[in-house]
Amino acid sequence: MIESPHYTPEHEIFREGVRRFVTRECVPHREAWQKDCKVPRDVWTRAGELGLLCPKLGAEWGGGGGDAYHGLVIIEEQTRAGFSELAFYLHSDIIVPYIELYGTDDQKARYLSRMATGELVSAIAMTEPGAGSDLQAIRTRAVRDGDHYLLSGQKTFISNAQVADLIVVAAKTDPDAGSRGVSLLILETADAEGFTLGRNLKKVGCKAQDTSELFFDNVRVPVANLLGGEEGRGFYQLMQRLPEERLIMAMSAVAQMECGVDEAVAYAKTRKVFGQRLIDHQDARFKLAECRTTATLGRAYLERCIDLFIEGRFDARDGAMAKWWTTEKACEVLDDCLQIFGGYGYMKEYPIARRWADARLGRIAGGTNEIMKDLIGRSL
Ligand SMILES: Cc1cc2nc3c(=O)[nH]c(=O)nc-3n(C[C@H](O)[C@H](O)[C@H](O)COP(=O)(O)OP(=O)(O)OC[C@H]3O[C@@H](n4cnc5c(N)ncnc54)[C@H](O)[C@@H]3O)c2cc1C
Repeated sequence: MIESPHYTPEHEIFREGVRRFVTRECVPHREAWQKDCKVPRDVWTRAGELGLLCPKLGAEWGGGGGDAYHGLVIIEEQTRAGFSELAFYLHSDIIVPYIELYGTDDQKARYLSRMATGELVSAIAMTEPGAGSDLQAIRTRAVRDGDHYLLSGQKTFISNAQVADLIVVAAKTDPDAGSRGVSLLILETADAEGFTLGRNLKKVGCKAQDTSELFFDNVRVPVANLLGGEEGRGFYQLMQRLPEERLIMAMSAVAQMECGVDEAVAYAKTRKVFGQRLIDHQDARFKLAECRTTATLGRAYLERCIDLFIEGRFDARDGAMAKWWTTEKACEVLDDCLQIFGGYGYMKEYPIARRWADARLGRIAGGTNEIMKDLIGRSL
């Protein structure tokens, strides 16, 4: 990994705790969790006990009161350990802020501190079988019925759903109002009649990260669980939050690139081909030089983006640029790094093989890279 001037001694102490937890309590179980296609629920409770959930959430809610670099530390440490599947960032830095920023006082009081301890784990459900990139086309409906909404519809590709106690669900409260007809409802999954957790889908990479289908058949959700208490705000809330989600994906892409390059350089220094170390062959050395340069550029750009985010100046276009560029480069760099390993690079037991497969998701999730370019293009 490349050293960063942005880390304080406090970040480094936090890093030690994350590293201990990931290497001692997660890595030994990786294969079993990958087989189960999920990280067990009690791992979340343990992470909460250790103060590893919600590092940015305000201390008044039991969060760490830290900054975006704390989130990056977690991503770096789990990536270094070859465990990009721990989706703590999804809960802590993507979903919790929906409630922290847009929730009513009652919603904040009911959920935030329990999310920080890991008592409540969360997921967010936007995508449907017929609506991914085009979110306005969602068909899930929430129809008011007294003090409740009746939620009906279907979602797919939902991360964390197998372990989630709370799911923020995007639904149409007014199907004739376009983007202004979308609202976000907080569904408590325990005893939710009419809610069915569908298949836990098998994936090419990120295998221990669960990804599920969801079905809603007239599920009663209290009106008090309408995020922010006002109908029709959902699309705006999603659009406001997506830049940070994309920044987090850029963090993961840069961390994957750096780790892949470290591993490929180390391998090229030990592998002998035609009587020489692989790195002594110019083609391999040049390839690694290019990879290291790209990863270094990625780090510099990422830190610039994080600084803009901390200053409150990171906008939708920045999010789109950071996400498409870093995830695209991560795939290119990791493909070159895998090639350095020859046949071993294609074996699952080698971390580079898993990185290569895990990184591919970055070009799809959080809005595809084509959609990112469309967003940037429209802003020119
Ligand atoms: C492992 C995983 C985890 C996920 N987790 C979640 C989650 O937790 N919550 C959630 O809500 N969603 C989640 N998603 C869904 C993800 O956000 C969507 O897959 C993504 O937004 C793309 O939608 P789609 O799959 O329907 O593809 P489509 O929208 O059908 O796109 C298909 C292709 O068409 C291209 N395309 C679409 N529109 C345009 C256009 N206007 N111009 C040019 N090209 C275009 C796309 O770029 C893509 O290449 C997850 C997905 C995966 C794979």
